[in-house]
Amino acid sequence: MEIVVLAGGTGGARFLRGVRAAAPEAGITAVVNTGDDVTMHGLRICPDLDTVMYTLGGGIDEERGWGRTGESWTVKEELAGYGADPDWFGLGDRDLATHLVRTRMLDAGYPLSAVTAALADRWQPGVTLLPMSDQRVETHVVVTDPDSGGRRAIHFQEWWVRYGAGLEPAGFVQIGVDTARPGPGVVEAFTAADAVLLAPSNPVVSIGTILGVAGVREALTASPARVAGVSPIVGGSVVRGMADRCLPVLGIEVSAEGVGRHYGARSDGGLLDAWLVAPGDGATVPGVDVREVPLMMSSPEATTALARAALDAAGV
Ligand code: GDP
Ligand code: CA
Repeated sequence: MEIVVLAGGTGGARFLRGVRAAAPEAGITAVVNTGDDVTMHGLRICPDLDTVMYTLGGGIDEERGWGRTGESWTVKEELAGYGADPDWFGLGDRDLATHLVRTRMLDAGYPLSAVTAALADRWQPGVTLLPMSDQRVETHVVVTDPDSGGRRAIHFQEWWVRYGAGLEPAGFVQIGVDTARPGPGVVEAFTAADAVLLAPSNPVVSIGTILGVAGVREALTASPARVAGVSPIVGGSVVRGMADRCLPVLGIEVSAEGVGRHYGARSDGGLLDAWLVAPGDGATVPGVDVREVPLMMSSPEATTALARAALDAAGV
């Protein structure tokens, strides 16, 4: 059985861990958002790919939800000693090794997909990790500059990590998404899939960015598999992260129903055959099989049960 999962960082990684446990015999391909990728201190950083890789490979700091377990911050402190900008990004010593290897390989001409495969060779995540694209796509957020009062676009990481999503977003721009092509294996994965799952990832800056790459949405809708999505919104709130700051910008209600309607029914030109919402979040999404199941990935057992429910909804 072949399963394709569209994933962002924390929500995607946890969900993938459940899918791997629920379908240990299956081939699982994660198509991961790279719109959060950024260059800092000369190093190429891929937050969502790394979160998925570390989580599935057993290297994640479980409490923080990102970065390496047993991390230290000596290099960050030394950089601060030089006043080297940016000083707001958490670059751990262990994590740095990943970025050094990645950057060296990219500089040598390897595409991100090949670099990702090489990094995953160490971590053995048990799923095939595919960047959504080998071309650079970077999500920027249009905000009012706190200093000048003018409009400007800042990198998503700056908006989220530096300002804690505190600056009112006026729009999201996925720079490069128009000319990006699906990464190697992405289209083929949808063609070969028996089930396609949308992880409970951010619908705007994770799932939305992946689907913005020309050809990905088309490959998904053309897949012979059923598509089941999991709501990242439970009881009208995000579980973690900043999707509640992103959805209104696109006019999407912060609710399981709002996100389900935004994705839409496959029979109606949308994405979904099935949509999983939390008990009590009963949603009406015309043309979509809406199911109420516990959505909190609070333990390995709960996460596996959620993944099982998603696979059931996808008919496998
Ligand atoms: P990011 O790249 O780290 O922002 O991660 P994602 O895009 O993968 O996921 C962020 C989304 O995951 C947020 O909108 C959260 O609401 C959602 N999320 C996190 N934990 C859970 C959970 O236990 N259950 C569900 N249903 N959603 C979750
Ligand atoms: Ca992310």
